[in-house]
Amino acid sequence: MAELSPPIVGRYAPSPTGQLHLGNARTALLAWLQVRQAGGRFILRMEDLDPARSSPTVAKAIIEDLRWLGLDWDEGPDVGGPHGPYCQSERRAFYTEALEKLWQQELIYPCTCSRKDLASVAHAPHGAADDPPPYPGHCRHRRRSEQEALCQSDHRWSLRFHVPAGIVAWQDALAGTIIQDVARTVGDFIVYRADHVIAYQLAVVVDDAAMGITDVLRGDDLLSSTARQIQLGQALGLPIPRYAHVPLLYGPDGARLAKRHGATAIAALRDRGWRAAEITGWLAASAGLLPDVAPINARDLVATFALSDIAKHRVDPVALWSFLA
Ligand code: GLU
Repeated sequence: MAELSPPIVGRYAPSPTGQLHLGNARTALLAWLQVRQAGGRFILRMEDLDPARSSPTVAKAIIEDLRWLGLDWDEGPDVGGPHGPYCQSERRAFYTEALEKLWQQELIYPCTCSRKDLASVAHAPHGAADDPPPYPGHCRHRRRSEQEALCQSDHRWSLRFHVPAGIVAWQDALAGTIIQDVARTVGDFIVYRADHVIAYQLAVVVDDAAMGITDVLRGDDLLSSTARQIQLGQALGLPIPRYAHVPLLYGPDGARLAKRHGATAIAALRDRGWRAAEITGWLAASAGLLPDVAPINARDLVATFALSDIAKHRVDPVALWSFLA
């Protein structure tokens, strides 16, 4: 008898720091299609960790926009579910538990380096021009008793993960084989910020595992975070999901979406009279799933969706964007 493969569980995890725009909506649509086509469970998680940048009003508007586009989820902030809460701001206990586990294993340590300390390293030659230099490890070698005293003091400190040496390699469903040496390119990275905010890298790993996520589909701007997340997951003894990093949406000039590309917020397009099916058709064509821009409902894309169809068709970006003009 053929073995039944376990159902897939995917998620869309927006940060409510700005309105849902075409780029985010496209990632959400693709993540939803992957799960719905496979008959799996889809989770919406609000990544509102940073109180200074997140807004509950924006979170609510993102949910409304996603629903308007015809997407739905089996678990999420507005519908609940067995793995809640679904807003990261309410999940602190999970992150603290993970930090304690890493602390017991001596895999994290307090760091008191200021931006200024690190900026002086930035003058030393390193990798690609845009990448910050790897953390030089200044604070790594304090004795444990000193570390404990520091954490009790009112000195400003963050917590860094002691990155294991060696390469991390994984197979991305879209980006292929990825190999990264985190120790050499990033160095020990922050898991708890000096302003007491849990770092994204830790929260995402803890939550994906706690919510049983088997498949992460997200924008390829996060491709370079994945090796870090795999290392953290391994240190915490958590299952590692499969990854698919989808290309970001670029403007007609090939640059990342920005104000000059006009109104790209879903709410603004809706206000201008666009219908959900028209936007969905545009998003599907821009992702290369369809050869032409034509209205289609999200649910009508489900049956034929395949990850390998992303970027199958190439719609001319100028023609694509002229639809929105
Ligand atoms: N919250 C992140 C963002 O909006 C996405 C995190 C993820 O998908 O892993 O960019």
